[in-house]
Amino acid sequence: MATIAANLQAVQERIARAAAAAGRRADEIALVAVSKTFPAARIAEAHAAGQRVFGENHLQEAVEKITLLAHLPLEWHFIGPIQSNKTHPLARQFQWVHSVERGKIAQRLSDARPEGLPPLDVCIQVNVSGEASKSGVAPGEEARLAEAIARLPRLRLRGLMAIPEPTPDAALQRRRFALLRELKEKLAARGHPLDTLSMGMSDDLEAAILEGATLVRVGTAIFGQRQKA
Ligand SMILES: *Cc1c(COP(=O)(O)O)cnc(C)c1O
Repeated sequence: MATIAANLQAVQERIARAAAAAGRRADEIALVAVSKTFPAARIAEAHAAGQRVFGENHLQEAVEKITLLAHLPLEWHFIGPIQSNKTHPLARQFQWVHSVERGKIAQRLSDARPEGLPPLDVCIQVNVSGEASKSGVAPGEEARLAEAIARLPRLRLRGLMAIPEPTPDAALQRRRFALLRELKEKLAARGHPLDTLSMGMSDDLEAAILEGATLVRVGTAIFGQRQKA
């Protein structure tokens, strides 16, 4: 079985190759290691191999691991669905939240962000595939939410995030990611210059990087297959 260190190196090499193919620098692309379902010991192992930034999608599970690993200088990104009664721990324990899709949630996160911490970095999640079951605002609705977030003192709007439907069709992967890039460009034209496109996972990070991803969220390719819930 491949070690986490070897997997991390392989993922970094994929990122570097995709960046080169896109004429971009590999250090423009941040890697969030998605550690959901894996125990704290695996995260510590990834940290020992040089990984510092981790993503989780389930609050209670994440808070347990954050507590266990508080002695390590890790950065935590929340990437899952947000319940409005859970915004307090989210705003206190994470540096980033990628999955903001409602103004009310944004308001609560801002209200709950402690004064002693820097503003919470957030992304607006966009449903680029138009699947009814998927989270995120519909394309075109991100502008209004961006206006609302820009007015909140304890949030810093960094960019857009998407989880397109899984598909082996590389051209379709690129179209979904290109849409998110275009929405980010439109926001910039409306006075919201953002620096983050959070897109690309284990199976489609190359397509995402070709379309401008600045942050990829990779789980399986680092930690292995997750047990089915
Ligand atoms: C699980 C998850 C990932 C990682 O997916 P892999 O296919 O395992 O790389 C990325 N982003 C989000 C939002 C996730 O929930």
